[in-house]
Amino acid sequence: MAQRKGKPDLGFGCMRLPLLRTSEPDSFDYEKIEVLFDAFLNQGFTYFDTAYTYHGYHGEEAVRKALVERHPRDRFQLATKLPLRDFRDEADLERKFAEQLEHCGVSYFDSYLLHNMGTNVYEKCKKYGAFDFVTRKKAEGAVGQVGMSFHDTPELLDEILAQYGEGLDFIQLQINYVDWEQPNVQSRQCLEVARKYGKDVAVMEPCKGGTLVNLPDKAAALLRAADPAASMASWAMRFAASQEGVVRVLSGMNTLEQVLDNAATFRDFRHITEGERAVIGQATAIIEENTPIPCTGCAYCTHGCPMDIAIPQYFALFNNFSRTTGSFSSHAAYYNNISLRHGMASACIGCGQCERACPQHLNIRDFLKDVAGTFEAADAFPKRKA
Ligand code: SF4
Ligand code: SF4
Repeated sequence: MAQRKGKPDLGFGCMRLPLLRTSEPDSFDYEKIEVLFDAFLNQGFTYFDTAYTYHGYHGEEAVRKALVERHPRDRFQLATKLPLRDFRDEADLERKFAEQLEHCGVSYFDSYLLHNMGTNVYEKCKKYGAFDFVTRKKAEGAVGQVGMSFHDTPELLDEILAQYGEGLDFIQLQINYVDWEQPNVQSRQCLEVARKYGKDVAVMEPCKGGTLVNLPDKAAALLRAADPAASMASWAMRFAASQEGVVRVLSGMNTLEQVLDNAATFRDFRHITEGERAVIGQATAIIEENTPIPCTGCAYCTHGCPMDIAIPQYFALFNNFSRTTGSFSSHAAYYNNISLRHGMASACIGCGQCERACPQHLNIRDFLKDVAGTFEAADAFPKRKA
């Protein structure tokens, strides 16, 4: 994977692009997206990362319109991902790839990844030759580099790399300072396994879906005291990019300010010092205390929920509520509004499909009970009929 003169690179993650209406994942705010993409390019960065499944299966189309159709092909690098959850058989791999080229409006991808590899899709990938398929695409020249995004245990990563590692140029891992030792994610151990096989690493979720930008007050105060000029995001980006073997960090940017802040962090990149690591350790303890549901908001769980439950929105609201004091009514009002358009948390029938899709391996059904217990109390819904 190409690096900018030995420094870690910044990539534009396109999983959460600006929308006109938050409830419609394909209502792209193209005016905003184009400003962000152009600013990113103008800051000297070139790598964009999307996927077949992003934005309700319309994410690649948005990248085509806002990037590919507006800039020469050699001005940017484009990465997308093979949807392991969705392909049916060997022939379908070829069909999906052809569709993706069309969605994106390109003749090749600079990087192509097996998307969200884990226990639930590994057997299927072996059976239908998904690993061979992506390496063949590279040999044909339709793909520059082959990668794999991974959200499972270090043991499984080891098994996969022992078997199929040779064909993979890089591994995309969830690395951030809260998940570094977190048992659901095990960032550090997964990174160590990737390095054991000599793989470059790209980082996703460096800010944990925004959690590390909107810190609890006490944690933010700690970081501010250590470096008054540094943004919260820059701490998270520098932590992720400072790890050995990390060549790129992806960031989903929604404002021009975020683009410029991230660009500044990577342009004059400084590795995290030992002293800063200690401060981050203290901040992590505070964040963990104040984040009961470690959800990143990726929304993988909502696709196929028979009750159309707004899982990530409810979890974000619950986390937010547990960080504040005394504003129950405003949180309950938000809950009420969301649940008028979606199933309520208590509507969960316990089918478990969401948990099979969750890259964070969360006990979503249990957490929904906590959400329902908090926000569905009788006095939280004065206007709702029982
Ligand atoms: S377990 Fe509940 S929330 Fe999850 S998919 Fe089934 S109904 Fe939806
Ligand atoms: S519950 Fe899991 S799958 Fe759903 S949004 Fe949160 S992290 Fe993503």
